[in-house]
Formats: sequence, structure tokens, C-alpha cells
Amino acid sequence: QAKVSGKDLVVIGAGPGGYHAAFKAAELGLSVTLIDPEENPGGVCLHRGCIPSKALLHVAKLISEAQESTAIGITFSRPKIDVDRVRAWKNEVVEKLTGGLGAKVAQQKLTYLRGMARFKDAHHLEVTDTDGKTRELGFSQAIVATGSRPIMLPGVETGSQRIIDSTGALNLTDVPSSLLVVGGGYIGLELGSAYAALGSKVSVVEMTDGLLPGCDRDLVSLLKRRLDNIFEDILLKTKVVELKEQKNGVAVTLEGKKGELTNRRFDKVLIAIGRKPNSEQLGLDKTRIEKNDKGFIEVDGQQRTAEPHIFAIGDIAGEPMLAHKAYAEAEVAAEVAAGGKAVYEPRAIPAVVFTDPEIAWCGLTETQAREQKIKVKTAKLPWRGSGRCLTLGRDDGITKLIVDPETDRILGIAVAGPGAGELIAEGVLAMEMAALSEDLRKTIHPHPTLSETLYDAARMLS
Ligand code: FAD
Repeated sequence: QAKVSGKDLVVIGAGPGGYHAAFKAAELGLSVTLIDPEENPGGVCLHRGCIPSKALLHVAKLISEAQESTAIGITFSRPKIDVDRVRAWKNEVVEKLTGGLGAKVAQQKLTYLRGMARFKDAHHLEVTDTDGKTRELGFSQAIVATGSRPIMLPGVETGSQRIIDSTGALNLTDVPSSLLVVGGGYIGLELGSAYAALGSKVSVVEMTDGLLPGCDRDLVSLLKRRLDNIFEDILLKTKVVELKEQKNGVAVTLEGKKGELTNRRFDKVLIAIGRKPNSEQLGLDKTRIEKNDKGFIEVDGQQRTAEPHIFAIGDIAGEPMLAHKAYAEAEVAAEVAAGGKAVYEPRAIPAVVFTDPEIAWCGLTETQAREQKIKVKTAKLPWRGSGRCLTLGRDDGITKLIVDPETDRILGIAVAGPGAGELIAEGVLAMEMAALSEDLRKTIHPHPTLSETLYDAARMLS
């Protein structure tokens, strides 16, 4: 049994939240034990989320750019796709990053335990290693960073070859001739786009009346125009009522807008209907830690749970379930655990959808402003006048600024277009600095770049 001293900290889960908190706490002088079942840190983000999906989307981008370049006078022959090499390259990217984190663990002299932890009480964990052996570990402070996992449709088993979740899709065992993506959120659209570029006939089915719930409709329409060309169909207000795995595919029954039923057959079905927190197997009932009705651990502004010496960060601590939100919370929890006075109060958390075009936003959306009856002034700049956009062979994109009409302060920024995910960082900084649209207008932006669209949108408000 480990010694309990005031300077020790255990971090449960080594995803972006957990490894960031562990490194930060070690830098601040705490003696840190990081626990995770994987050989190297990385969590969902590096092993089976952000990074492998972006690697596949890069492949998709190369293919679609090669296909579209005929319009500017360059014709490549039909791309030959070596799926084994694509998979190997994607795995190499993941291994470089997770291996790098493994090396950093050794450098920083953290203790890394491979295993699954659960609370025995508010000061002790039971850790089960990969061979099933258990050990007890005492701690003074703990950070819970156990993340989340995909939600499956009721009655559908995981681990099937044909009915897969995001992890199965990222394994890229083959390129199915037809793929049904269940769920029109960012994970479904990103993975669907990657498979469509690799050659699958992709259909998307979404229960609500639009893709990407939460995102302004003008940005979504711009994306949908392109997706309509690469997907076989996008079925809105439609739900899956039955899935039957068969020898040569999956028989799917869909229920449409008016209750009509249709039967379709797909090679594979990807379920991407959301994620849920990993809070059930943690023995939280042995502590006073509280969960909300969705299973997220309740925390205060310093990421403390109802047990003040136990913190929770990242996906397990609530929406938005994004890696950069996990980093920010990790920073706060580690500083507070080391005796600092940090607090988590971001003005804006960016969201990025890495489709083509990319969509990114931060702060208030136009939809929220309407719903919450907040008075705003909005500038929408279409990219067809952007020199940089046209030189990239594109003319689709919008930059939108949402400002307070009284004070000119920027309340929200949204961008759709190639590279939107990079551009939004300027918006997040502007919001953190409480910038006015005048500040953007008076900042010299490099020419010719897509960042000038932020400057031009600000000029529309003057
Ligand atoms: P996780 O990354 O989920 O890590 C938790 C770790 O805890 C895991 O390694 C798990 O094995 C371990 N664990 C669980 N239970 C225990 C236990 N009892 N004991 C010990 N260890 C345990 N986010 C973005 O910001 N940008 C993106 O582009 C993006 N793309 C994504 C694409 C896909 C396909 C998916 C699935 C997710 C994507 N995300 C993206 C979301 C992002 O991956 C998560 O928000 C992020 O990984 C959350 O980090 P975390 O540290 O909270 O937990």
C-alpha cells in the first residue's frame, strides 16, 4: 500500500485532461501517479479520436483536391488507394505522439501505472492491472479524468465487424462499398467524409431536422451543399428503427418524416450518436462525489468534486466534450491541487468541425442570441471576395461576427471555409481579451490570407 503524504496526487485516466494535469502537477512539485490501461498516455483523443480522425481527413483532402484540380487545368489520374499503407501511416502518427508522451512520463519521473482504478473510499483506490492483478493505492489528492465512450443504439452489440462505432471506423480495416452513418454530429460527418473520399458510398441518417445541432444554420447550409455532392444521401428527421447484421451486410429499417418505413442494406453501419461519461465503474458510490442525471461528475469553478481533495476534469466533468476544454480544466485542477489559486472561467471555448469546408465557432451563436432574445449586431462576410480564398481554387466560406450593438464588444465569432479551425483561434483570443470589433478592424492582418476575412467582417460593422 502506497504511503499517503500531503504532496502526492493520483490522476485517473491519461487522456488530454489526465496527462496534462499530471505533467503540470509534477512541474509544480507534486509527486504524481498517472493510471491508465493503455501502454502510453493519449486517451481517446490520441489513440482513437482527434488525431487518427484528422489523419484520415488529411487523406480525404488530398484525394478531393486531386479530383477537383481539373477545374484549374491540372488532371491527375484516378488515385490508387493502398488502404494498408493509409492505416499504417495513421497508426505511425498516433504512435509518434503517444510514444512522445510515454517518453515525457519517464523524463518527468511520474509513476505510470497500467490498469483500471476504482475508489475503495475517499482516500484509497483499487487498481487492476492488465493481467487482472489488483493493488491498493492510498492518496492525498486525486484528479478523475476517465473521459467518455461512444453511445450505442439500444439493443445493438459493440464489437461487431459490420456495426461499428468511431473506434471501429478509425481502425480502417477496409473500405466498405456502402456505409450508413447514424448521427449527423461532427464525428459522423468527419468520419463519413473520410470514408466517402476513400471510395465508400456514404449515407447519413439524422433524427433531428438538421446536421450539426448547436451550429448556426447558415454555416451548416454551406457545408451541406458540399456534403450533398460527396454523400449518397443525407436523410434528416429520419431514425433507424431496426438493424440486423447479416452475412453480407446490415439490413436497416428507417422511419422517415411521416412515419413511413424503408428497408435498405449497407455493407457497414457506423453509429455516431454521441458519447457518455465513463463514470459507472469508478466506485463513486464509495465517496461523496456527485453525478448529474447524464452521468457527468459535478464540479465547482476549481474543478473540485463534492470531496474537496478530489477533482474531475475533461469529458467526465461535462460538456463540451473536447480535448482543449480538458486541457484548460487540467491546468486549473493541477494548480489548485498544488496549492495555487486558479479558477476555470473561459470566455469562449472554440468548437471545430474538420469537414470540408471546416466550421468553427466560439462564444455566442446567432441562434442562441435569437433564442435568448439578446440584442446583437451581426456582420456576415462571404468569402467569394477574398483574394486568398479564390487563389486556393475555392469560393465558399463565411466569416461572421456577432457584437453587442451598444458597446461594440465581440460576443461571438463563426467561420465556415477551408482552414476555419485555424482562423477561430484569433476569435478566441479576441474574446478572451474582451476585444471590440474596432480592435479587429484596427489590427493589421497579413495579405493575402483568410484571416483578412475577420478584418473585413469587422469593417462591415463600422
Ligand atoms: P479521454 O481522452 O476519454 O481519456 C480518458 C482515459 O481514461 C482513457 O485512456 C481511458 O482508458 C482511461 N480510463 C477510463 N476509466 C479508467 C479507470 N477507471 N482507470 C484508469 N483509467 C481509466 N476533441 C477535440 O477537441 N477535437 C477533435 O477534433 C476531436 N475529435 C474527435 C474525434 C473522435 C472520433 C472522437 C471519438 C472524439 C474526438 N474529440 C475531439 C473528443 C476528444 O477526444 C475528447 O474530448 C478528449 O479525449 C477528452 O479527454 P479526457 O482527458 O477527458 O478523456
